[in-house]
Amino acid sequence: MKHTLTAHELTKLLISRDVSSEELTRAVYEHIGKTDKQIGAYITLTKDTAIEQAKEADKRIKEKRGVAPLTGIPIAIKDNMCVKDVLCTCASKMLNDFVPPYNATVINKLRENGLVFLGKTNMDEFAMGSSTETSCFKITRNPWDTNAIPGGSSGGSAAAVASDQAILSIGSDTGGSIRQPASHCGIVGMKPTYGRVSRYGLVAFASSLDQIGPLTKDVWDCAALLEVISGYDPLDSTSLRMDSPDYMSFLNKDIKNIKIGVPKEYFIEGIDKDVELAVKGAIKKLEKLGAIIEEVSLPHTEYAVATYYIIAPAEASANLARYDGVKYGYRAKGEGVDNDLLGMYENTRKEGFGAEVKRRIMLGTHTLSSGYYDAYYLKAQKVRTLIKQDFDKAFKKFDILVTPTSPTPAFKIGEKTDDPLQMYLSDIFTIPTNLAGLPAISLPCGLNKNGLPMGLQLIGDYFDEGKILQVAHAFEQSTDFHRSKAI
Ligand code: GLN
Repeated sequence: MKHTLTAHELTKLLISRDVSSEELTRAVYEHIGKTDKQIGAYITLTKDTAIEQAKEADKRIKEKRGVAPLTGIPIAIKDNMCVKDVLCTCASKMLNDFVPPYNATVINKLRENGLVFLGKTNMDEFAMGSSTETSCFKITRNPWDTNAIPGGSSGGSAAAVASDQAILSIGSDTGGSIRQPASHCGIVGMKPTYGRVSRYGLVAFASSLDQIGPLTKDVWDCAALLEVISGYDPLDSTSLRMDSPDYMSFLNKDIKNIKIGVPKEYFIEGIDKDVELAVKGAIKKLEKLGAIIEEVSLPHTEYAVATYYIIAPAEASANLARYDGVKYGYRAKGEGVDNDLLGMYENTRKEGFGAEVKRRIMLGTHTLSSGYYDAYYLKAQKVRTLIKQDFDKAFKKFDILVTPTSPTPAFKIGEKTDDPLQMYLSDIFTIPTNLAGLPAISLPCGLNKNGLPMGLQLIGDYFDEGKILQVAHAFEQSTDFHRSKAI
């Protein structure tokens, strides 16, 4: 049963040495062995090195040497972050044999703190998607309903935590890829302020939007994991040159007189009734806890999805130009390729990328091309500024904004695969914060009539992760939603 506990419950047991990290790690792998055939959360498992790392953590704890709050806790890593000598595929045929020779900065930080790496999790190909169905390997199933998607693109990371196949995990969020799967899997997921966590060693999708963050069983674990991974990194030119606050100090504080805005543009037609009821119930709860609730308007919200689908594919088309079969990754072979450089490029990209990735590359190349740049890309950047200014104005008056994370609970596998536009709309509430670079969390706020989890999103001002965690923790501690289990 150890694997069902949170990191903070386990940390106590590890420090008192009632449980060893090795025992815990073995228990998690045993559980993975029983459940992952069904769920499909992992692409690669690294059991041998994990056991070594767990033994080393046990030694650290025994010798009371460099013990941090998460030392000895097993964690799963989304398969778009480089771990030295471990396959890093981005769930793409293009990288299906790529073994990075270095660690991402977050990986080094996790190792310095003594966390144990379980393996790499499934995702949408190159993090493009909202359901983990664009993975070239397999689909991942939602642990609450195995006919439903787990969300995406960090679907494997979310499903692993929700099914107790990992105690913690990390994912990346470009337009919602941490928060939306967290919401669909009934767990906590946070996208920090852009620049808070180093992106060095994260395979780039859209560099002005990408951010790494935690997926956890509760808010305490989220704060602890954020503390480990955040901080300035000279290897990432967009990394914030500022010290991270002590996130844990924001927990267990009351939220009396905290001003919370409810953006009216997030309660639109088409939003699922159960989601609307659950979020409105959560807002009442926050009011009971002493927060001051008021409606606010973010008038440019309706342009966010369209803006994102110009900017993200434009950046993706530039970032993905590096996959040409020359330096690393997949390389086409055979007729029309040998002794023909252009043919080799073309066939490599034709065979190596899946349909969604190709769609993004084509969209991005088109909007950046001469004659279209001003009409699409430049215009989108201007609208992006308007969206950011809406938030700037709101945060002059409010501490936190509260919204649903996703307009619906998890949908069925296959339901939206033939309709990219419907798929894109699943991130309608998460995309604006990426465009603005703001931090936001998703945490459980109830189950719908079919027993599927729904998420509450709390958005904070720049660098205000602490306040987000404070409000999230107060809400969580006054409810039982985080205690419901998928399996
Ligand atoms: N679903 C969005 C997309 O497909 C966001 C993905 C992400 O955040 N990585 O682009």
